[in-house]
Amino acid sequence: MVQLNEKLESILAEVIRRNQGEPEFHQAVREVLESLGRVVAKRPDLLEDALIERICEPERQIIFRVPWIDDAGNVRINRAFRVQFNSALGPYKGGIRFHPSVNVGIIKFLGFEQTFKNALTGMPIGGGKGGSDFDPKGRSDREIMRFCQSFMTELHRHIGEYTDVPAGDIGVGGREIGYMFGQYKRLNNRFEAGVLTGKALFYGGSRARTEATGYGNTYFVKAMLETKGTSFDGKKVVISGSGNVAIYTHAKVTSFGGKVIAMSDSSGYVVDENGIDLALIKEIKEIRRARISEYVRIKGEGKGVYFVKAGDGSIWDVACDVAMPSATQNELTGKDAKALVKNGVVAVGEGANMPSTPDAIRVFQEAGVMFAPGKAANAGGVATSALEMQQNASRDSWTFEQTEARLATIMKNIHDTCYATAEEYGVPGDYVSGANIAGFVKVAEAMRALGVI
Ligand code: GLU
Repeated sequence: MVQLNEKLESILAEVIRRNQGEPEFHQAVREVLESLGRVVAKRPDLLEDALIERICEPERQIIFRVPWIDDAGNVRINRAFRVQFNSALGPYKGGIRFHPSVNVGIIKFLGFEQTFKNALTGMPIGGGKGGSDFDPKGRSDREIMRFCQSFMTELHRHIGEYTDVPAGDIGVGGREIGYMFGQYKRLNNRFEAGVLTGKALFYGGSRARTEATGYGNTYFVKAMLETKGTSFDGKKVVISGSGNVAIYTHAKVTSFGGKVIAMSDSSGYVVDENGIDLALIKEIKEIRRARISEYVRIKGEGKGVYFVKAGDGSIWDVACDVAMPSATQNELTGKDAKALVKNGVVAVGEGANMPSTPDAIRVFQEAGVMFAPGKAANAGGVATSALEMQQNASRDSWTFEQTEARLATIMKNIHDTCYATAEEYGVPGDYVSGANIAGFVKVAEAMRALGVI
C-alpha cells in the first residue's frame, strides 16, 4: 500500500467512517487518493475549498423498494439504488446493474469510478450509477418485464435527459433498457429518447453502442502496445467473462490479429487453443442463455479444448500475452497476477470496472507489465452513450462507420491523455496515476468554477 500524506490519510479515514461496511468504495477512493499525492505537490490550489472531500461525497443517494409479482403469483421484494455522484460536467451518467451482489457500497464505488471515467471521455457527462439486488438468472421474460416496470415506476421521478441518464451494466442489456424506456414513456407521456442509452436502433439507439466497451478497451490496449512498438498481431489473449464487453473484445482483438484462447462465466472457464469460436459463444450466451461449459459439450473435449469449473482453477492460470478482465470487480487477485507475470503477460486491459485487486495492480506494475485501468480502458461504452445522447438531441442517426470512428478517436485521446499526464506528474508509463490525475483535475476544476454547491 502506498503511504498517503497526512491530509489525504485524514480524508480517507473520514470516507471510511462515513461509509462503513463498504469495502469496494473504500478501495476505489484509496486508489484515487494514492495518485493524488502527486497533485497535492504540484497543484496545491486543488486542495482548496474541500474539493477532494466534496468529490468523495455523492451529491445524492436514492434507495427504494421494488415490489413485483413472479410467475407463480408470489409477491417479491428487491432493494434498488441510484447514486447520483457528480454533475459538475453534465447530467449524471452511468449504468444500472442487476445482480444479487448489489448493495449501496457497490453502487457507490461504481458511481465514483464513473465520475472520473466520464471526465476522461471529454464528453459533457457527470457520473452516477444504479442497480438492484434482483437476480435475473432463471427469470422468465415476463418476470424481467414486470421487474423493470416496477423499478422504473420509482426511478422515473429522479431521472431525465438533463438530469440523469442511466444505461446498462451487468444484468441489464437491450431487453431491460427497452422495458424501462417503455415504462418511463408511459409515466411521463413523452418520447424523451435521451433519458436512457443503450436503446435498440429502432427507437433511438446508437449504432456501435453494443460493441463500444469491448472495442474501446481493445483500441486502448492497441495504443498502449504501440508505445512499445508492438501490436496484437500473433498475440495470445485471455478474456474473462462472456457478456457484452467480453464478446466484442474478442471480435476486435481477432480483427487486429490476436488469438483469444479462453473466456469464462461465473460457472468456470473454457480454453480453446485453436481460438475461441465467437459465433458459438454468442449463441450459448445470447440466445440459449446457457452456461459456458456448453461450448466444450458442443465442440468436444480434447485437441486443446477443455472446461475448468469455478473453484477448480483460475482463468488467469492460462498462459497468454495479453489479459483482458471483462467480468466483474476484484476478479483478478495478486496470486492471479503473479501467475500471469510468470507466464510472460505483457499487457493488461480492464474491460470490467475495478477487476484487478490493489495487490494485482502492484504485481503488474512492479513487473513492468503495461496496465490499463478500467476507468480509462473501458470508457468506450459510456463515451458512445454520450454519442447516443448527441444523436437523440439532434434527432439524427449516424452510420456504424461514423460512430466507430468517433469511438476510436476518443479512445486514442484517452490513452494519450493518461500517458502524457503520467509523464507530466513524474510517473511515466503509470496509466493508473495518469487516469486518476487527469480525471480528477478535470472534475475538480469544473467544481471550483461552479462555486461551493
Ligand atoms: N455501465 C457502463 C460503464 O460502466 C456504461 C455506462 C453508460 O453507458 O452510461 O461505463
